Amino acid sequence: MSMGKNTLLSGFEKFVIKNPEGCWGWSGCIPKNPRYGQFRHNMKLERAHRASWIIHFGEIPTGMFVLHKCDNSICSNPDHLFLGNNYDNNKDAYLKGRNKILWAYGEKNPRAKFTNQQIKEIKNFEFHFRWQRQLKRD
Ligand SMILES: [Zn+2]
Repeated sequence: MSMGKNTLLSGFEKFVIKNPEGCWGWSGCIPKNPRYGQFRHNMKLERAHRASWIIHFGEIPTGMFVLHKCDNSICSNPDHLFLGNNYDNNKDAYLKGRNKILWAYGEKNPRAKFTNQQIKEIKNFEFHFRWQRQLKRD
């Protein structure tokens, strides 16, 4: 276990760009989709934010996902990461997609194609998400 951790650490340290002020960067491979920092570890690809979690906090429990508080999928700053279940993961992905869509949406945008029901759903998600974040902070 400790051997694996050392290898994970050295692989991670090789590419991570630690920014004391905020999000951490990645100088290694970053595929387009999903946009996560990656490196090779024990013959397979490991994601930077997952490696960071394991290095700083320990093993990721089965069925749990390492998610970003900072909406920066490349970031591996352990202070910006949190564990979530599959529901959180889906919601997170949904909201990140939604951020892009909502940004383009609006009465000012003639290409907006949302129904009132969809907008209501989006706003519900937003509220729920903020509320959950608030709980985590307290
Ligand atoms: Zn970050």
